[in-house]
Amino acid sequence: MNNSLGNLMEEAIKLIKKSDNIYIASHVQPDGDNIGSILALGMAIKRLKGKVNIIKVDDIPSDYHFLPGLELIREHDVGQYIDLFIALDSSDIDRLGLGKEFASKADKIINIDHHVTNDNFGHINIISTSSGATGEIVYEFIKKMGVKIDKDIATCLYTAISTDTGSFIYSNTSYKTHLIVAELLKIGIDNNHINVNLYQSRSMERTKLFIDSLNRLEFFLDGKMGIITVTQEMLRDNNAKLEDTEGIVSFIRDIDSVEVACLLKEIDKNEIKVSIRSKKEIDVSKICNKFDGGGHMRAAGCTIYSEIDTAKELILEEIKMTFR
Ligand code: AMP
Ligand code: MN
Ligand code: MN
Repeated sequence: MNNSLGNLMEEAIKLIKKSDNIYIASHVQPDGDNIGSILALGMAIKRLKGKVNIIKVDDIPSDYHFLPGLELIREHDVGQYIDLFIALDSSDIDRLGLGKEFASKADKIINIDHHVTNDNFGHINIISTSSGATGEIVYEFIKKMGVKIDKDIATCLYTAISTDTGSFIYSNTSYKTHLIVAELLKIGIDNNHINVNLYQSRSMERTKLFIDSLNRLEFFLDGKMGIITVTQEMLRDNNAKLEDTEGIVSFIRDIDSVEVACLLKEIDKNEIKVSIRSKKEIDVSKICNKFDGGGHMRAAGCTIYSEIDTAKELILEEIKMTFR
């Protein structure tokens, strides 16, 4: 952690200590890093101040239902006075969905994140793009707060870091990732239990959707690019949910010829969620930025508001251009 990040953390901790009404929220379509981070920080703040409010912005995918502290995530009214809002793992304020209404009412915003596309929307911005997960930043933050990292907090942090680094294999994994995870294991978390829940509990519906999706895999650019579209009809046919698309895009990237993998999910007729991954060369955050999205060099996302065929054409064209 560099010095200025340390100073920003101290400033943020002072603010937490003097604030009474603190709200934390996930981003829309929350992932493991997001949920793990909000729960870990939420539990730490609760321990420090006796109270914390975590806003339910979206459904929590079943993958994370085993996490301790989940009962802290609740629906809240926007009406109340908010003196501090904390955003985690969100590169811009629109990513907060319903949380944006709470954030815009708050006296102060702390923005803790690791995305290269973060636009510093907070009053205090703790942005570390070299961190593999927001959970790594939160680990340092909680230590600086002086709150003991117990097994519950450590379980959430492990989940955050493991999911965003693809179980410590993606290029965002650093020696710091391993040092932090070593500390978490030392605390005595049950990592086998966590890993079984995260990676070895795939439902039959998800498995069937996976098979159906792979049957529709298409390649472009001599196999350098692979793309799958998942429609609402496919979800219905397999009795699956949107969250069951987890794992599809990384499977495409794992194919030897593939540099860029793309997954299009039909949220609604005119709302297509795009996930893009790359292996070694292409900066996919730049591609997603063009569609008002964002992310990291090797993992990014955006939403295209058109029908799925049009969205596919638009994204294919943009990806092909980056290879020219
Ligand atoms: P996903 O493809 O949704 O798993 O997201 C990959 C990465 O890009 C994650 O770090 C997300 O937080 C980020 N991301 C996804 N969608 C957006 C978006 N619309 N705006 C900004 N960042 C995004
Ligand atoms: Mn995230
Ligand atoms: Mn993240």
